[in-house]
Amino acid sequence: MISDEPNPNRRPIASALVRQNIYDTSENSTQGRESDSAAFHIIMSKQSMKPRNDDVVSRYDDYVMPIWKTLNVPIKHASNCVVEDYNGNEYLDVFSGISVTNVGHNNEAVVEAAKSQLDKFVHGCSYVHPNQTVAELGERLAEVTPGKLAKSFFCNSGTEAVEGAIKLARKHTGSKEVIALEMGFHGRTLGSLSLTGNSAYKKEMAPTINDVAHVAPPYAYRCQMCDGGFCSCACAEELERVIGTHTSGDLAAVIVEPVMGEGGIIVPPEGWLQRVKEITHNHGGLLIVDEVQTGYGRTGELFAVDHFDTVPDIMSQAKGIANGLPLGAFTAPAEIANSFEPGDHLSTFGGNPVACAAALATIDELQDGIVENARDQGVWLGEQLATLEDEFDVVGDTRGLGLMYGVELVDPKSGTDPMDVAPDPDPTLAKHIGERLRDQGIVMGIGGYHKNVIRFQPPLTIKRDQLQRAVSGLRTALEVEIA
Ligand code: PMP
Repeated sequence: MISDEPNPNRRPIASALVRQNIYDTSENSTQGRESDSAAFHIIMSKQSMKPRNDDVVSRYDDYVMPIWKTLNVPIKHASNCVVEDYNGNEYLDVFSGISVTNVGHNNEAVVEAAKSQLDKFVHGCSYVHPNQTVAELGERLAEVTPGKLAKSFFCNSGTEAVEGAIKLARKHTGSKEVIALEMGFHGRTLGSLSLTGNSAYKKEMAPTINDVAHVAPPYAYRCQMCDGGFCSCACAEELERVIGTHTSGDLAAVIVEPVMGEGGIIVPPEGWLQRVKEITHNHGGLLIVDEVQTGYGRTGELFAVDHFDTVPDIMSQAKGIANGLPLGAFTAPAEIANSFEPGDHLSTFGGNPVACAAALATIDELQDGIVENARDQGVWLGEQLATLEDEFDVVGDTRGLGLMYGVELVDPKSGTDPMDVAPDPDPTLAKHIGERLRDQGIVMGIGGYHKNVIRFQPPLTIKRDQLQRAVSGLRTALEVEIA
C-alpha cells in the first residue's frame, strides 16, 4: 500500500526574483537568496550542476518511469546527423530518434519557423480558434498526399492518429470490426495497442478494444505460405480467409503499415497492398495506411504508398511530419472526412500552431532534394548491406526502401527442421551489435518482432561518407562478435 505521508523533499516554487537568478552563475548574483531558503537550495544545486551522462541517467532512474531502454545515449545537443552527449562524446545518429528527424536534427528552417510562430502565439486550441498555420498545413497536406486525400485532423502523436482514423472509419462505414497485421505496430494507447500485433506489448495491459483480428504479414523471409520460394502474394489472400473466419462480416477497416517498421523493416511484395485494398473494399471496409514511420520521405518517396500505386482511404501520419515537434495527423477524402460531425473528435493540443509551422517548413525542406537523397543513398545502402549477407552467415536477410533498412541477424546453425523456413532469430547478437556500434560512436536501432533486426533509419540528409561509416561500423561489430 502506498502511504499518504507528505513528501519531505517537496519545495515551494521559487519567487520570481529568485528564479531570475537561477541561471545566473556570476559571483555577485546573491540578490534574493536570503528571502527564500528553499529556492536558494535550488539555485545552488543548479549552479553547481554541470550534468554528466551519469547525472542525467540517475535522475531518470529516480524520477522517470522505468520504461526506457538500456541502449541509451543521453543527448545534450544535436545537429543534422550528429548527437552529442553530456560527456562531450559525439555519435553518428543512424536512428533519428526512432525515425523522426528526417530533415536533420535542429534543421535551421524548421527551427526558425517554430520560433517565428512562438513569437506570434503558442496555443489557442486549434479547434476553438481557427488559425492560419493550421489552415495552411491542412491545405498543404491535401496537395502532397496521394489521390483525393483532402481533409486532415491534427493530433499530437502516432497512436492518436491511428485511433482517430479507426473512429472515422467506424463512423463512415457504420461498421465496427478492424483487421491489422500480425507483428504490426500502431502505438501503445489501448485502442492502438489492440491493433499492434505483438503480445509482448500487451502483457498485463489487456483488455484492449474488442473486434480486432490479425492476419499474417507480408514477411517473405519467414513466410510459411511461399516457403522461401516464389512469392505468390498468398499473404494478401489470407485476408479473405481471416475476414471469413475471425469476423462477423461487419468490417470497418483494415489497417496496415506499407513497410512494417517495428516489426522488422518488412517490405511487402509487389501487388500486395493493391490486393489488400481490393479485398477490404469488397467487404465494405476502408483501407487505413499507417504512414507514421514510413512517411515524410523515409522510404525515398514522400509517402511509402507512392511505391505501391495505392491510395488509402485514410492515412495516419506522425513522427517525421514536424521533424521532432509533437504532431500527428490523419487525412481522408472529403466524402469520408465529412462523416465526422462537430463533437465527434477533438484534442486540446492537437494541431498546435508551433508544431504545424514546423511541419510546413519540414515539407518545404523535404521537397528541396532531401527525398531524392533518401532514395539515392538507399540504393547504395541496399547494395552494401546485401554484401554483408554474403560475408556473414549470421546476416540472414537485408531489406528496405530508401533510408529505412533492416539487417536480420540469425543463428546460422539453427533452422534445420524441415518445418523451418529460415534460421532462428538471434536477438542476443543484435543487442551486442547495438552496444558495439554505440561504442564506436554510432547510434542504430534494434527492433523487429524477434528483436533481431538492426535498423538503419538515419536523418534523410545523411551523406555518403557518414553512411559508409555506419556500414563499416556494422561490419566491424559483426567481425568482433563472431570472432
Ligand atoms: N504507427 C507506427 C507505424 C509506428 O511506427 C508508431 C511508433 N513507432 C506508432 C504508430 C505510434 O506512434 P507514437 O509513438 O507517436 O504514438
